[in-house]
Amino acid sequence: MIKQSTLQPAHAVYREVVAAGDYYMRAMKQGQTIRILDLEGNQAADTLFYNEHDTSERYSAIDTIREQGNVYLSAGSVLLSNEGNPMLEIVADTCGRHDTLGGACATESNTVRYALEKKCMHACRDSWLLAVAENEQFGMSKRDITHNINFFMNVPVTPEGGLTFADGISDSGKYVELKARMDVIVLISNCPQLNNPCNAYNPTPIEVLVWD
Ligand SMILES: [Zn+2]
Repeated sequence: MIKQSTLQPAHAVYREVVAAGDYYMRAMKQGQTIRILDLEGNQAADTLFYNEHDTSERYSAIDTIREQGNVYLSAGSVLLSNEGNPMLEIVADTCGRHDTLGGACATESNTVRYALEKKCMHACRDSWLLAVAENEQFGMSKRDITHNINFFMNVPVTPEGGLTFADGISDSGKYVELKARMDVIVLISNCPQLNNPCNAYNPTPIEVLVWD
């Protein structure tokens, strides 16, 4: 569902441009709103959420899909934790569809999907592992990396139940906005993928904005 935001970028309390292949890892408080902005279009933002005070509670694709009865995420979707608690709600969305089935790219999946020589190419899982290693204050490790959301990524489910990585439907300036229902850690890998059309074979920067 397309829903515009009324928040003004000039009033944001935090802004950061995240290059393709880089990560964003920061806590946000209950009641704050985060916007992920697709600056140049057709990008994928592979995102994980954790309860800031107990990171064993984290975003659960399974619980979220079951409770909303829809495999796609958009405005109105409430993101649930593995304990069934609302973590964030998508309160604005000008893209209209976000995937939570396709998972993130990894060097291993790159070899299976594309070619053995893709093994050394940078992947989202590497960015997440670097993020948890460089942010020891959150006390997380490799074992905390679980299933994620791919904001802006178009992964249609076929009538037979298959998944296809389709050309993106996002465009320059499209965004998704989420309001936190608890204190959360946001971990985004701005996808460096070069092998599939989700980002038009051309990874580009995103911008993250936070409002009180
Ligand atoms: Zn990726």
